[in-house]
Amino acid sequence: MTPPTDRYQRPIDYLRVSITDRCNLQCVYCMPLGGAVKLKHEDILSYEEFLRLIQIAVNMGINKVRLTGGEPLVRKGVVDFCRRLTRISGLQSLSLTTNGVLLEELGPDLYAAGIRRVNISLDTLKREKFFRITRRDEFDRVWRSIQAAERVGFNPVKINVVVMRGINDDEVLDLARLSLHHPYHIRFIEFMGFNNDRQWNLQHYFSADEILEKLRQVGSLAQVAPEHSNGPARHFRWPDAPGMIGIISPISHHFCPTCNRLRLTADGKLRNCLFSDQEVDIKTPLRQGATDSELSQFLRDSIVNKPEKHSLQPDFFRKCQSRPMVAIGG
Ligand code: SAM
Ligand code: SF4
Repeated sequence: MTPPTDRYQRPIDYLRVSITDRCNLQCVYCMPLGGAVKLKHEDILSYEEFLRLIQIAVNMGINKVRLTGGEPLVRKGVVDFCRRLTRISGLQSLSLTTNGVLLEELGPDLYAAGIRRVNISLDTLKREKFFRITRRDEFDRVWRSIQAAERVGFNPVKINVVVMRGINDDEVLDLARLSLHHPYHIRFIEFMGFNNDRQWNLQHYFSADEILEKLRQVGSLAQVAPEHSNGPARHFRWPDAPGMIGIISPISHHFCPTCNRLRLTADGKLRNCLFSDQEVDIKTPLRQGATDSELSQFLRDSIVNKPEKHSLQPDFFRKCQSRPMVAIGG
């Protein structure tokens, strides 16, 4: 089925669903110090409600769904939810972004439930630094999860690295070198300065060009067109490497002209741009008994009003957003 388009003729075929705002880490760039204000339980959509909305989205032509959070694996019943999602016909791709803390434990069941694609976030290979970034001592578990994900058969295993000047930019090469020995996709993401913690500001922004410059020190890097992806990453590979490197540069190279995303938050708000506070409340009509066709109109409204582009600058952190990243899902 042809996906819906927005007013700029961009096909919107990808829905990112945040199934919880809870998290077992407290990353400095995502969660305010001391934790974010938590949604009330009754405000969080039930799995039944998510299933209904996702089915409606798929019926409209959206064919890719990514589950995110907070941390999606902390929500009870997530494996069964995935199993039910993979049965939705027309849903061509179901993936998950996780911090990896619980993936070693849940990976085999998630795989059995039909999940094949996982993104695991890991910004450092050093345990102490991991603690500094995430405020939790969970490096060992995350590292074991990455290795377990490969064994279980997830493919691709993507590793998301937020690069921060003075924090982990010195590890870009070590992290990238994982792609020389494993079939991992190492994805370097430009740090977006959300206003979580005052000490995490502009001075930590490290551009995609600077990342590429570091990578090129090791040897020639070929740009590759990946299969099955029209996402925002530019992909590269070192000769003979089993893995790949992706660069995601929301700040320095806008990918707005090809943006294909819509987001659904845990409390049932549709967000049509990561950097816009424009939200459409779909939970209220859902709970007031709206029909499928009425609900699909809410999705269409959000899609049609998708902004042409964001005006994000490296100093975006100064302009506080209504929600921290942990409550949007990345
Ligand atoms: N908890 C899961 C995780 O960490 O993978 C899923 C949610 S998290 C919000 C999704 C992605 O957003 C992660 O890869 C995280 O590193 C990234 N992220 C969060 N805050 C960010 C920021 N300020 N700048 C760039 N990426 C960010
Ligand atoms: Fe939690 Fe993921 Fe945000 Fe880190 S990036 S605080 S793991 S939601």
